[in-house]
Amino acid sequence: MSKPNKIRVILSTAACKLTRSALRKSGRGGTAIPGKVAMKFAGNILEATSEGMEIVVVTGTNGKSTTCGMIDHAVRSCGHDCLYDRSGANLLSGITANLTCNAGWTGKPKTHYAVIECDEAALKQVVPLVHPKAVVVTNLFSDQVDRLGGVENTLEEIRKGVKLVPDTTLVLNADEPRSASLSLNVPNRVIFYGMNKEVGVRGDIDLKDAGVCPVCGGAWTYSYHTYAHLGGYRCEKCGWGRKDPDVAISSIEKVGPDGSEVNMQIHGKNRSVRIAIPAVYNISNAAAATAACMALGLSIPKVLDSLSSAKAAFGRLETFDLNGQRLQMILVKNPAGCNQAFSYLTGLKEDYTAVLCLNNRTGDGHDISWINDTDYEMLVSDPHLKKIYVAGECRSQLADRLKKAGLPASAMQLVDDYGSLLQKLMREKNPVYALPNYTAMMELRKVLAEATGRKDFWE
Ligand SMILES: [Zn+2]
Repeated sequence: MSKPNKIRVILSTAACKLTRSALRKSGRGGTAIPGKVAMKFAGNILEATSEGMEIVVVTGTNGKSTTCGMIDHAVRSCGHDCLYDRSGANLLSGITANLTCNAGWTGKPKTHYAVIECDEAALKQVVPLVHPKAVVVTNLFSDQVDRLGGVENTLEEIRKGVKLVPDTTLVLNADEPRSASLSLNVPNRVIFYGMNKEVGVRGDIDLKDAGVCPVCGGAWTYSYHTYAHLGGYRCEKCGWGRKDPDVAISSIEKVGPDGSEVNMQIHGKNRSVRIAIPAVYNISNAAAATAACMALGLSIPKVLDSLSSAKAAFGRLETFDLNGQRLQMILVKNPAGCNQAFSYLTGLKEDYTAVLCLNNRTGDGHDISWINDTDYEMLVSDPHLKKIYVAGECRSQLADRLKKAGLPASAMQLVDDYGSLLQKLMREKNPVYALPNYTAMMELRKVLAEATGRKDFWE
């Protein structure tokens, strides 16, 4: 497709802005529709409304939103404007809407930098239009199998996108063999990030998503293991394996509910870094964000400083104050992410109440069989877990899974609606950790936001 002409750009931009404003006036968020309307006037309007910008696109199974938020905050901390759409709309239509509404009436971008969260399958549509400076791939895990068709398929979808932008820097997770394999046979500059040793996370090595050596089909051997199938892998047959990361976590000094302290090694230099967003998996996201900022050529000391004040993305370790009691919300949508959340909770060594919410609507994937592959046994066997509330449309299936994991009926309460859940949580004596999947998170967050005065994301 050639670039749209000036008249079409103006028409398309106007249509996009007016549609979004009309939707908002009627009280709807409207993340995708304005983009669809804009594309009716000029199919590749995104190419015009992103022209000349320095853009980072973030894709992968887990950690996209948090990594985007960290990059956005780092760019701003370096004194630049940055565009980032916190609504999480990550398909072509939503991305088009966001960049086009950000442009002036002639379609010229208003900010120089942008961070775009992109669905793995949409990458090949988005990157040829926005010509990103960097594409970050966080990791690849089994997720929403009914939509993407397995982790191998997802990797191929990402590879199609990567092939379209040979000048883009790839920021890849050195610890995760599938995403690291994107560095093979491409002319792109590659920046690797990763964790150089074990991190004390509970859970055994899980090779379900590891695949085989992309060079010769050989099996992996691991010299150390961080979580799931991530760690120091190497092919027994041909020797291909983990690359030394350019941004490396060399040690983890502290992990708590208010953040982590780590040592990073960048270009051989050791730096002590505080990361405000808690949990071990966000240490990896912080390394990804740092590597992306390196691709943008930003000041690394300023970027590392910014990690100490970056705030959690919508629903991802967002903290609410309930009558003086802390409630942290952790979005979970697949076994790997859920197990990481459990290992965060069990690692804190404080008494707590857990809230698990499960829906199976379109935004979640209709197939909830992933709960069978999730290590609820880790959660249930934690002596600090004092109570579990179970809510959402699939609460009875989740309750069955928890019983199977060994949770006594006396420790579990099924709750029918979020209003009464909130009443119960208001009376809790222990910190509360809520683990909803996507549409359940939207509902629970709405109730929490109303009770605590937090705004909706599009305001
Ligand atoms: Zn091999």
